[in-house]
Amino acid sequence: MSMIDEALAANAVAAADYDASHAGPPKPKIAIVTCADPRLSGVLRLLGLDEADVDMIRNVGTVIDDDSIRSLVISTRVLGTKEIMIINHDGCGMTTFTDTELESRLRSESGEWPIAPARFYSFTDPVENTREQIRKTRSHPWIAADVPVRGFIFDVSTGLLSEVVADGTTADAG
Ligand code: ZN
Repeated sequence: MSMIDEALAANAVAAADYDASHAGPPKPKIAIVTCADPRLSGVLRLLGLDEADVDMIRNVGTVIDDDSIRSLVISTRVLGTKEIMIINHDGCGMTTFTDTELESRLRSESGEWPIAPARFYSFTDPVENTREQIRKTRSHPWIAADVPVRGFIFDVSTGLLSEVVADGTTADAG
């Protein structure tokens, strides 16, 4: 049996204890953008946040791209979240190759040269990368100026978050 089939079987059992109050409209208070890495899956518990209060936006590498901005605009403008947290982490898989290396490998393995994705958003320094994501979020005209945008690095060894100072005049990673 595949893991999906096992999950479906488990769902049929677990749904018996489902809290029907979850069916109400969502009222998240904060938006979090973080990596799809499974090591980040427990981050809400480590932050003492209730799942219902958080609009979780995840992608590989904690990238503020067209799609995560789309989600953040909806989150703040439609759902009413008041703060944005960007949580990158050390040891991200996106630091283990460059876009060019991965593209070359995929072209070689597949024999195909597709036009998309245009970028994989690999990076080397999680702090600089987080600064770049803060700037991209902060400068978007549809993210209201009164919504704080703060960035953090999650230490996968300790479970601690450290804040990335948004400033940094030398941090142009574009
Ligand atoms: Zn990652």
